Formats: sequence, C-alpha cells, structure tokens
Amino acid sequence: MELLEMPADIAALGARMHAVLIRNRGRELQECFRRDDWTCHSCGFRFRGFMEVDHTISHDPRQPGGLRTICQFCHNLRHPVWSALRGRLRMIWAPSLSQEALNRMAWLALLASGDRAGKYVDHELADAANEIVAATRRRESIVASILGTSHPGGLFEAVFSVGPLCGSSDRMIALKLIGRSVRFWPVAADRIQSQVADPSASFSFWDGCRFTDIAELAVSEYWKRERTVDELRRLCAAHQAEIDA
Ligand SMILES: [Zn+2]
Ligand SMILES: [Zn+2]
Repeated sequence: MELLEMPADIAALGARMHAVLIRNRGRELQECFRRDDWTCHSCGFRFRGFMEVDHTISHDPRQPGGLRTICQFCHNLRHPVWSALRGRLRMIWAPSLSQEALNRMAWLALLASGDRAGKYVDHELADAANEIVAATRRRESIVASILGTSHPGGLFEAVFSVGPLCGSSDRMIALKLIGRSVRFWPVAADRIQSQVADPSASFSFWDGCRFTDIAELAVSEYWKRERTVDELRRLCAAHQAEIDA
C-alpha cells in the first residue's frame, strides 16, 4: 500500500459515505459485478455474491463511473484510517509478501474454517490456515517491537494527521521503510482461531446501502463450488518458507 500517496480524505472514508455513493445505483453495481465476473481487481479473489465496489476515479457522488469489483479486504485498505479505527486490521511484518497475496491468503484462511456445523471443514486445511494465523501473530509482535506499537490506528494517525504538520524528510524515509515491510492482515480472517466467537460478528459486506453479515450458508456454498482447497494448498506451499521464517 502506498501510504505516502494516499489522499487523507479518501483514507478516512467509511460506511456512511459509501452508502450515499451506491444509493439508487443497484443496476450499475450489478453490471460492474457481472462484467468483472465477481473478481476483485486488486487481489484477484473471486467470491460470487459477496463483493463490494471500488470507486477508482472519484468518491464524489457527483462524479459517477470508474466502478470496479473489489473484495472487502482490499476495500478496507482503500480506506485504511476508517478500517483501522474500526479494528479491522492488524499490522504484520511481511516484507516479502505483497499485500494482494496476503489478502488472498486471508480469504482462504477464512474459508478454510468451513461452516460452524463443521460440515465442510477439511481438517488438514484448517490446521494449515491456523498456522498462517499463528504466524501473523508472531509477525505482529515483530512490528510492535520495531515501531513501538502494533496498532494500525496509531500508525495512520501519525501518517495522516501529525505527519503533514511536521513535513520532515525523516518522516518520508520512515514511511517508505514501513511501506516496504509492514502489511495489513484482515482481522475477519482470524475467525478460524476463535471458533467460540460468532464468526458473522466479525465479518460483513455491502448489500445495497447497508452492511450485512455474511451468511454461513453462503460460505459453505462457496466451499462446495470453488476450488478453495487446491488454492490454499498451493499458496501454503508457495509461502511456506516465508511463514516459517
Ligand atoms: Zn481483494
Ligand atoms: Zn471506497
């Protein structure tokens, strides 16, 4: 994520503004999802029925257009100040993983837990996903030891509010270093480790003009139809060295 290039007003936009933006635009949204085949333009993850729209040209309601399909995890990072303040992100140390690859892993880790009844759980896969989540915890403590905080709200506050007042070149250097090494893990993907908590409580998506909890049923439908298992295995293998490091 290009922390330095992100306009502060866009970074802080949240649910209210998006509700205004998509009001009465149902047909355009459906066209956008159909055209993009429900695939996130940022991380490439496809989850039919559970995508959001990105406003790539402008978030000004008077300037419609530029809609592209985006997943919730990638959309969170278009508006990181809002997401951080809502507790949706954890900062982790992962210089060799792109944010997009990490978001894909997070989706697959989330889906690997299957439905609550345990009907669609592949236990080997669920173990792999748990390992990934545990690795993100270790990486979170690395960030904390380097930055003095692992709270993304603190980082963004420094970037977007205090920083511009100082405008020092040290700030630019620090931000470049952080941008190169720190990634953001979606908290919603941690549900696999906290099976006691209601998973729907930590996960929501856009539907019309409101946030709606994702249905357990929909997750299990996805699980049945898409080749999530193969994909997560492949990703786990590809990133094993990274995860172990
Ligand atoms: Zn995405
Ligand atoms: Zn947006």
